[in-house]
Amino acid sequence: MPQLDFASMAILIAINLAAIGLALPWAMGSPVSPAARHVQRYFLLQALGWSLILVASRIRGTFWDPVLSLSATCAAAAAQWQMAQALQCWLGPRPLRWLVIGLAILGPLGFAWWLHDIPTRLAWYSLYHGTSVACLGWMCLHPLRPVARGWRYLMAACATTMSLGLLARAYLAYYTPWLREFAHDSAANYLFAILAQLCSSLALVSMLVAWRDETNQKLRDMALTDQLTGLANRHALLQTAPRMQSLAQRQHLPLAVVLLDLDHFKNVNDQYGHTTGDHALQLVAKVLHAEMRPNEMASRWGGEEFCLLLHADADGVQSFYQRFSAALLQRAQQELGFALHISAGCALQTDSDQNLDQLLQRADTALYQAKSQGRRRLVFGTVVERPQPPTALSPAQTPA
Ligand code: GH3
Ligand code: MG
Ligand code: MG
Repeated sequence: MPQLDFASMAILIAINLAAIGLALPWAMGSPVSPAARHVQRYFLLQALGWSLILVASRIRGTFWDPVLSLSATCAAAAAQWQMAQALQCWLGPRPLRWLVIGLAILGPLGFAWWLHDIPTRLAWYSLYHGTSVACLGWMCLHPLRPVARGWRYLMAACATTMSLGLLARAYLAYYTPWLREFAHDSAANYLFAILAQLCSSLALVSMLVAWRDETNQKLRDMALTDQLTGLANRHALLQTAPRMQSLAQRQHLPLAVVLLDLDHFKNVNDQYGHTTGDHALQLVAKVLHAEMRPNEMASRWGGEEFCLLLHADADGVQSFYQRFSAALLQRAQQELGFALHISAGCALQTDSDQNLDQLLQRADTALYQAKSQGRRRLVFGTVVERPQPPTALSPAQTPA
């Protein structure tokens, strides 16, 4: 049976990684997210690193051997950097990213320092690279995002396995005579090549799943967001309202449904143009953002109407309306050069009236009243007394 030597294994790994690095941009299409772009670079740089180390091992003792080995180290360090950037894009701020970036700079410098001492430079490379891979694994899990995602656990498992392999190789290279060279035909090198191949394939799987999750999340966000103002849309508010209603009930918080409608907005479009009208709607969103609390919700209900869910009683809504309409007027005059006024209708959730449709109906009727009473005002919708169901008559009252 033909023996598989280390060089053949390394060639297979390099071809595999290069194929992945080239196929990813083609398969993902363009444009892709910054995170996906970092992952593409990660695989291309990995492929480059393996190819260079392979060529270097074939020309040992020549001038080009250390140059190519150092270049391979730089490519591997840059690949780690790219992966750290990708994780940062997908998972938000990662404190350990700076350690990976630091190691990506210090690592090749140390390698250059021990360039002509092959066992030491191999041990150093394995040590810092293993530490950097371990950091990447930790970055997948910490800080943990609220949504659990399987790809992070898979990626963390790959990184941990790979890092343990690298640290073991660092030990073997520095303290034992069994691993003096990266490309020797030794059991440790075979094992390491298989491990590297396995971990890269599984890392690819986790990266593809992360990319799919990211795309799905973008689609979900788009379906729930108003593109012009960046506020939630009507669908998002209707989805969130029941959660806010039951939270208000559990924690005994007041809840108010407020409908806002810009006064004579048609005149703004007619007088200043549709683009300025759009800027005015964006300004309303900005002022709402500034005036509302984080646990409240604002949505663009349609056209120039907005629907808010506020944790406030009648006094709270009244003072919110005054603050908000004054801020809107001031910023519109400053930023747009004309005044913007707004009318509001409000319905307060009560123990006996918690039906969302009815609350919205009451707020809408109140808004209509605000408009008909001259605009620029807030009107509270009153609870419509439902007729009491007829009580059963006692026999004494029963008509003969
Ligand atoms: P009222 O005080 O009675 O609410 O008067 P109004 O002019 O605000 O109300 P009307 O319903 O007559 O007009 C609403 C205007 O809002 C008409 C429409 O062109 C404008 N509008 C709706 N959506 C947009 C948008 O996305 N961008 C811009 N620029 N204008 C919009
Ligand atoms: Mg209007
Ligand atoms: Mg309107």
